[in-house]
Amino acid sequence: MIWYPYQQMKTMKDPYRIIDAKGVWLRTPEREMIDSVSSWWSVIHGYKHPVLTEAIKSQADIFSHVMLGGLTHEPVQRLSDKLQSFLPGDLNYSFFSDSGSVAVEVALKMALQYYVNRGEMERTKVLSLTHAYHGDTFKTMEVGDDEDYHFILEAYGEKKDVIHIPTEILALEEAFEKHHRELNCFIVEPLLQGAGGMRMYDLSFLVRARELCDRYGVLLIFDEVATGFGRTGNRFVADKVLPDILVLGKALTGGYIGHAVTVANQKVYDGFYGDEPEKALMHGPTFMGNALACSVALKSIELFEQEDYMAKICRIEEITRREMAGFSDERIREVRIMGGCVCVEVKDADTLKGYQQFAYERGVFSRPFLNCMYAMVPYVISEEELVQVLDAMKAWFGKRGD
Ligand SMILES: *Cc1c(COP(=O)(O)O)cnc(C)c1O
Repeated sequence: MIWYPYQQMKTMKDPYRIIDAKGVWLRTPEREMIDSVSSWWSVIHGYKHPVLTEAIKSQADIFSHVMLGGLTHEPVQRLSDKLQSFLPGDLNYSFFSDSGSVAVEVALKMALQYYVNRGEMERTKVLSLTHAYHGDTFKTMEVGDDEDYHFILEAYGEKKDVIHIPTEILALEEAFEKHHRELNCFIVEPLLQGAGGMRMYDLSFLVRARELCDRYGVLLIFDEVATGFGRTGNRFVADKVLPDILVLGKALTGGYIGHAVTVANQKVYDGFYGDEPEKALMHGPTFMGNALACSVALKSIELFEQEDYMAKICRIEEITRREMAGFSDERIREVRIMGGCVCVEVKDADTLKGYQQFAYERGVFSRPFLNCMYAMVPYVISEEELVQVLDAMKAWFGKRGD
């Protein structure tokens, strides 16, 4: 038996069975549908992309995996070189892992040990945001803040090592004033909080966060597992405000294989560098730097650059704004659009019950959660396909786009 994610297995409706996939289209035995979720926001180039598929096939003919403990190889070296030139500032040191959650764990471990290595033992706390989502492992759940995910922590009582604040500059300044001596890092999903409810906030908050982190010597971590590779309309939010540690996942491999990376800047790397073995970073996922994942990630980044994906994302945002202009309904709290993300937040989550099947019948795969009906489409989507996705969303409220 398969145990499915985030589901009460007793009452779960049957998942759609996928037998083929190409471009933005998923095929079930009955019909084709556009994947408006990009398989949890990762499949930015669409399915069965010839260049990406070929990258995996040709590497598989050489070798699929060797460990990074004591061994290295060309795909991982080329990917780390590529990330070094592709990422902003001095984010030059790539630590690979097999999933976003693990990569966030690594970032948090780096931040804590950075200060331990300096003998600043009192910096044990993490500052993070309300409604944050950073993964499903224990520490990431702890720095996260969403009822749907952190229930289990209630069993352990109060969270002592994490302070949560809303995305308000005043709250940010207060938290730094009060806690700066005990903070090792401030971790955020920059500009767009995904799984916590597709919440969008202003860049000025991050600019201020950077200033305060600099003033008080606190490391700034951007979890761009979801926002990286263009989703917010920026290549990376890190292009606008430079963090000390950047975490990438999801779209890193174009959604082909699970892989993630924690990228440190010079300052963080230097905090571990030296003659003392005990100052090394003690972490090493079995499949870190997997050769298939690195080969496909490298090609994914090359495609992103060569085919001007930022222009594609800009066009997706334009079409979305045009199609959603003036759309409203009394059941809707807010329609939010940023880059390649659109979210219709409803007042009552029950309003979205049945939407998935409704969308399916209109040739769209959608997966509403909390109060959010949303789309994060593959960037290769055509105008007609995108309009089909947005029309399904609008039609649910009885307001057809045509
Ligand atoms: C999805 C996500 C993660 C976790 O990534 P996994 O690969 O599912 O472990 C972490 N942070 C953010 C912001 C995410 O959206």
